[in-house]
Amino acid sequence: MKIAKTISAARAFVRDARRPIVLVPTMGALHQGHSALIRRARRIAGEKGSVVVSIFVNPAQFGPKEDFSSYPRPIEADESVCREAGADLVFRPEAAAMYAADASAFVDESRLSMGLCGASRPGHFRGVCTVVAKLFLIVQPDAAVFGAKDWQQLAIIRRMVRDLDFPVKIIVHPTVREADGLAISSRNAYLTPDERAAAPGLYAALRGAATRNTPAAIVREAERRIACIPGARLDYVRLVDSAALEPVRRLDHGTTLAAAIFLGRTRLIDNLQIPARS
Ligand code: AMP
Repeated sequence: MKIAKTISAARAFVRDARRPIVLVPTMGALHQGHSALIRRARRIAGEKGSVVVSIFVNPAQFGPKEDFSSYPRPIEADESVCREAGADLVFRPEAAAMYAADASAFVDESRLSMGLCGASRPGHFRGVCTVVAKLFLIVQPDAAVFGAKDWQQLAIIRRMVRDLDFPVKIIVHPTVREADGLAISSRNAYLTPDERAAAPGLYAALRGAATRNTPAAIVREAERRIACIPGARLDYVRLVDSAALEPVRRLDHGTTLAAAIFLGRTRLIDNLQIPARS
């Protein structure tokens, strides 16, 4: 496994790499969710292709009051995870290598980014789109793997790829969970023992609500169940079309029940795909 810390080193790897090249973009602090994505990328690339993992805590996607400086950066452990999961290259640039101090060109998705997490994290998805576009241009992957856990991010990246004609196939990998149902996240490390004990209530609430028969009843039931989670404060719960992320009135096509809550100072997100019902 090779390491590239600069854009030119990554480009040199890509020049000689065997295709398909499959990219897994991450912010590091890698856990079993990330390693499942990397193993999936390895299977897609096959023995002959190339798996690239980027590790970059992207300042452009953090708000001024968010955890950019305290976000964990265990780089040696991360490199071991990448090696064990079958990566060929870890691209881990410094922020200064990715953004000029006076950078003024960005990629904006202007519709799907407005609601859900975008409403409480202004600028977040502009940061995500910009860095993913840059990674696509640097690594020139044939495919890229994203987790279903960040469903809005996935839908926005698909829209960006469609609208800007990036020649990259977007692969979605299911959310990897702890045994108690909590979606694995680097930010789970911030939870106190009491908060950690309460956290699986989010996924349980979504699952319990999904059994209701109308969109309004599903959302109401999710809100009611989230209100019963000790210490939880609701950010949002919405039932949306899985691709356009617009609110739905019917369940006759694939929908996504998405929610965000605060437990103490930690913001947790999760979602559930609800298959079409007649
Ligand atoms: P992050 O490092 O949090 O930016 O995440 C990098 C990628 O890993 C994104 O595509 C996430 O959706 C994905 N990911 C994070 N946690 C999980 C999980 N528990 N299951 C599946 N994918 C995940």
